[in-house]
Amino acid sequence: MLILDGKLVAAAVKETLKAETDILLKNGKRAPQLAAILVGSNGASETYVASKVKNCEEIGFTSLLVRFDETIDEASVLQKIAELNADDSVDGILVQLPLPKQISEQKVIEAIDPRKDVDGFHPSSAGKLVQGLPSFIPATPYGIMMMLEFFKLETKGKHAVVIGRSNIVGRPMSILLSSNIPYGNCTVTICHSHTPNLKEICLQADILVAALGRPEFVKADMVKSGAIVIDVGITRVADETAKKGFRIKGDVDYNEVAPKTSAITPVPGGVGLMTIAGLLKNTLQAYKTNTGI
Ligand code: NAD
Repeated sequence: MLILDGKLVAAAVKETLKAETDILLKNGKRAPQLAAILVGSNGASETYVASKVKNCEEIGFTSLLVRFDETIDEASVLQKIAELNADDSVDGILVQLPLPKQISEQKVIEAIDPRKDVDGFHPSSAGKLVQGLPSFIPATPYGIMMMLEFFKLETKGKHAVVIGRSNIVGRPMSILLSSNIPYGNCTVTICHSHTPNLKEICLQADILVAALGRPEFVKADMVKSGAIVIDVGITRVADETAKKGFRIKGDVDYNEVAPKTSAITPVPGGVGLMTIAGLLKNTLQAYKTNTGI
């Protein structure tokens, strides 16, 4: 059984991106810049944004963190996005989700200039992905594709089952795996909360992607022997014995599922790190397109 080590793959991706950035800087160009908007002080969101900023710095990108109070109104967030859209020194814009109730996530997503949509959530990016046109791929599925490529896990002709149909993970993952691209060409089944015979479908999977947000939901009796299992789930589960008072759990019961698989991603240390790699890659792509370099 192969452990799909996200740390290893993310480090390799970041090394390539850093080398490219070093050349840009050496040639007198400005660094790629990511702007992140964080609303409120949700613990997980704080952690994610801090990690994104830190990773930018590690590879020589610059970053701009815009913080708003939890009670900020929608118009102010949209106004800030308009400013960042117009700022030529900003290549990529991300708004950390979820947002407080008074702000429409859809409006915010659609306000970002598609040329700076490094999260790949804009309907324009999603539409291009569906049609197989060059676009920003949502960072998590993008990272998973990089992982499949890094470990040369052949996907062509395989049956992939994706649990979860969100616009940020499940749906784009299903599109990529079914596309006629390297590490695509799977026959894909997408499952969701209304799928009645989930276990039977999962048992048919050569590749199982769990992205439902239910800790340790996937058990050994749902997994075919020798399957590749990709665990996207990240849930903070309260645990008094842990230093922070919680532990991060994936959607897969790793201890019982791992021995049955041919390859599996751990949580933490798997897909989460690849998500950041996907975001950084999209930011460099945005920089190249926006500057014409
Ligand atoms: P979401 O809540 O938007 O979507 C969950 C999906 O799972 C829905 O489509 C729902 O229909 C389906 N689902 C829920 N319960 C189900 C059940 N019992 N059976 C079958 N399907 C069910 O979540 P999301 O934003 O796609 O995130 C999913 C998980 O991935 C979460 O744990 C999230 O924290 C994590 N996540 C991780 C990363 C990463 O970098 N590793 C990135 C994004 C999200």
